[in-house]
Amino acid sequence: MRRLSLGFDIDGVIANFVDALLPRINSERGTSFTELDVHTYQLDVSLGLSPDQIEKYIGETLQAVIHPLPGAIEGLTNLRAQGHSIALVTSRRAQGIEVTQRWLEETGVPHDQLLFGLPKRELVVGIEVFVDDDPRILLELVDSVRHLFVFDHPWNRELETVHRVAHWRELTDAITSLAKDPG
Ligand SMILES: [Mg+2]
Repeated sequence: MRRLSLGFDIDGVIANFVDALLPRINSERGTSFTELDVHTYQLDVSLGLSPDQIEKYIGETLQAVIHPLPGAIEGLTNLRAQGHSIALVTSRRAQGIEVTQRWLEETGVPHDQLLFGLPKRELVVGIEVFVDDDPRILLELVDSVRHLFVFDHPWNRELETVHRVAHWRELTDAITSLAKDPG
């Protein structure tokens, strides 16, 4: 089995950010949004909010309780046990660094490296497998990363050119198969 250099986005791949964000917006604005309403990666457009409003809710949500996506911790633990390295690559802004480090520690997210910023293209040097839920970022990485995966959500269904995984079990199996492939 080959040892691969793996990279993962945090929100929408490891952290169930939208699940923590929507109840906050719903209770304050009397709406009843679900994940299905987030049909584009631009949250403000999907939810009919201004850029300032969505920034406020995102900032508040980062400080609130965010659960990991089902199977994420187990999947990362298994991949690390196979000998792969794990880099977390997030576009969370500078003010999110401390809260992100705390969340990763408290949630027990296995990783070797934590990288912040944009463009991700400049951060994924040497990474052989990368997983994200943002179609714009995945398209930008097509020439830089050999194996890309899109983690399925309503906001990325229009992306048809990247290998789609529906949940962590499928993702872990796909990466394990890559590692067994001598090519
Ligand atoms: Mg994301």
